[in-house]
Amino acid sequence: MSNNLAENLFIITAPSGAGKTTLIKNVIEFAKTNDEKVFMSVSDTTRIPRSNELDGTDYLFISEEEFKANIDDQIYIEHARVHGNLYGTPKQPIEQHLKSGFKVLLEIDWQGAMEILKTYPEAQSIFICPPSIEELHKRLHDRGLDSAEVIAERIHGAKLEMEKSSEFKYQIINNSLETAFKNLLNIIFREKHG
Ligand code: 5GP
Repeated sequence: MSNNLAENLFIITAPSGAGKTTLIKNVIEFAKTNDEKVFMSVSDTTRIPRSNELDGTDYLFISEEEFKANIDDQIYIEHARVHGNLYGTPKQPIEQHLKSGFKVLLEIDWQGAMEILKTYPEAQSIFICPPSIEELHKRLHDRGLDSAEVIAERIHGAKLEMEKSSEFKYQIINNSLETAFKNLLNIIFREKHG
């Protein structure tokens, strides 16, 4: 993949609960209504699916054995262990969509982002910050998808992740969904849609 193509690769990183899933969903909707070619990468993970998740849409949920075989077969651009589970970004669909003129969105953790930037320094890196750790705690609690133990682990991870935000080209603070969405659109579509 040439570096020019990588300019259309958007790496979006945020602590869980920072609101990135809603923001990305809105970008996909926006792309559909405006005839923009946008492809959202689907990662592989060994994590157990949450009750609201679909296999093949949110992630491909696979076993550790399958994941390790994929690592050996070099199918991932990057992979990392996050909160005890393995996550990996398949290379082929990304390269194929970039070559076909798509903007490609990756929703991955900071380790994965740094890994991709090493290979593709032209890629766009975006860090979405929650308004505060207190607000993050409230959001994770209110969405009711994780146990108290998992939430505590994620808050700890979020604090560490926020220290990495300065390594990203763009930072968006998700105080208001509307403003954060506008900022994200401006980065992805370079103010084309004002
Ligand atoms: P969750 O389990 O909440 O869906 O995701 C946990 C973390 O793993 C999030 O920070 C998410 O961005 C990250 N993640 C998801 N897919 C990938 C991937 O393919 N690679 C890496 N490095 N991180 C990922």
